[in-house]
Amino acid sequence: MAGLRIGNGYDLHTLVEGRDLILGGVKIDHSKGLLGHSDADVLTHAIMDALLGALSLGDIGHYFPPTDDRWKGADSLKLLDQVYQLVKSKGWQLVNLDSVILAERPKMKPHLPMMREKIAAVMGVEPETIGIKATTNEKQDAVGAEGAIAVHAVVLLEKV
Ligand code: MG
Repeated sequence: MAGLRIGNGYDLHTLVEGRDLILGGVKIDHSKGLLGHSDADVLTHAIMDALLGALSLGDIGHYFPPTDDRWKGADSLKLLDQVYQLVKSKGWQLVNLDSVILAERPKMKPHLPMMREKIAAVMGVEPETIGIKATTNEKQDAVGAEGAIAVHAVVLLEKV
């Protein structure tokens, strides 16, 4: 087997009133938040799916099913910690990851450095290896209508 593996992750959560907006472990002040069984941290979920995908280990729904009350309101950074421990236990480590948040509002840019730091800290890697970008959806589709936030993520792993 080659010493490199690539993984791709995607997630989308619905924006609703009465929920906190948490992305990359950062609570962002906004009139709406993301709906979900856990804290609905869509960025961290996409990153977890990319990590699992790189090693063909399934997806986060397999490890943290929404039917399981243990994950109700769960801090997704704690789930990321478990997923990356699994990756490391298989003999792999992160080279780098890149992601893009699709959100019409609020402005993500001021929060990106803290998201990178939080994710890097959980994974025990340098923030320079964590890429997080943000774009609007040009008012198109559910994301553009502020009905949802979506994230694409890609990771590269190397055999230790
Ligand atoms: Mg999710």
